[in-house]
Amino acid sequence: MNTTHGGSLSPFASHPDRSRGRRYTEVPSPGRNAFQRDRDRIVHSTAFRRLVYKTQVFLNHEGDLFRTRMTHSLEVAQIARSIARPLGLHEDLVEAIALAHDVGHTPFGHAGQDALNACMLQVHPDREGFEHNFQSLRVLDFLEVRYPQFEGLNLSFETREGVLKHCSQANARRLEASEPGGVGQRFLARTQPGLEAQLCNLADEIAYNAHDIDDGVRSGLLSLEQLEEAQVFDRYRVKSLRQHPDLVGKRLLFESIRRMLSAQIHDVIASTRALIEQAAPETADEARQHPPLVCFSPTMAVQSAQLKHFLSRNLYRHPKVQDTTDRARDVVAGLFERYLTRPADLPESAPVLPPLDDKPTQRARAVADYIAGMTDRFALREHERLTGQRLFD
Ligand code: MG
Repeated sequence: MNTTHGGSLSPFASHPDRSRGRRYTEVPSPGRNAFQRDRDRIVHSTAFRRLVYKTQVFLNHEGDLFRTRMTHSLEVAQIARSIARPLGLHEDLVEAIALAHDVGHTPFGHAGQDALNACMLQVHPDREGFEHNFQSLRVLDFLEVRYPQFEGLNLSFETREGVLKHCSQANARRLEASEPGGVGQRFLARTQPGLEAQLCNLADEIAYNAHDIDDGVRSGLLSLEQLEEAQVFDRYRVKSLRQHPDLVGKRLLFESIRRMLSAQIHDVIASTRALIEQAAPETADEARQHPPLVCFSPTMAVQSAQLKHFLSRNLYRHPKVQDTTDRARDVVAGLFERYLTRPADLPESAPVLPPLDDKPTQRARAVADYIAGMTDRFALREHERLTGQRLFD
């Protein structure tokens, strides 16, 4: 029997022995399956280690007790594994995808990405911007330098497919040109990725909705009263109080989040089971041909979207969060401009930039890669070193 950590593997799960393989052929490991090996390579990578100093919502220096990209990725992995096991999906693969999914994130979260995208669009005549999912793949395929035989980590197709959650048509065409039938193809053919990839996408949403409520309330920017608007959370707050009428403060917060998380996980398991039963895919490839099969129930999908909007209105666009992200945007844009026009200002540890003569866009991409790899505090230190300005205390 095919097993993965005690659960049996479904016929529609991805199987390491039937993987579409790596970009460079390697001898299989004697003790680990291909997806375990991917997961281990990710854990040992530089980009993964840097996630501990990268912003999720709250800038890394704002407090030690908020989520970072690292703890977010661990929570995504935990949730994805909890759902994978009862569905018979491959747990090592979901763990690999979840741990790697954010390695392309810039410092300062989405503000950093938006700034870098705007900078790249100005330089590139063919509007080649900066996309964090595409960057995650770029980190795994090229920017990690660890092996004598190849660039990148040379991960399995299935892990790379899961990391590339979104991709513009222009980037998909670029990928398809360099790797025909590879990870870019599904964006052109408009098909779905394997079920483990679909699962990690949803686990990401479940994770950030839950932990952003937690960080939001503990930071004082959100209140439990305000959260009454967010139906799915409030339902479990009321249920928690019914069972524990004296519950207040953090314990009430944590109990409500815990119940909401469990309910969402069980909802995905039940809805996905029903959809899979209906579609009856016999292989992982067949599952890719159907509409998404790893889903919330329609009711939970609406409630999760509502929670997302609530967080967007009340937390991500909170004036205090906005103020710090505006300044973070200035840091990233300032560094980009400076390195691009005065490469001599790059620190000694930086890679050498390609010459400007024939392909100025290559230099811009190298600068974007370098800035995207920075941690929040390294970017702040660099900005201060070059401008003398201190944008954060
Ligand atoms: Mg994420």
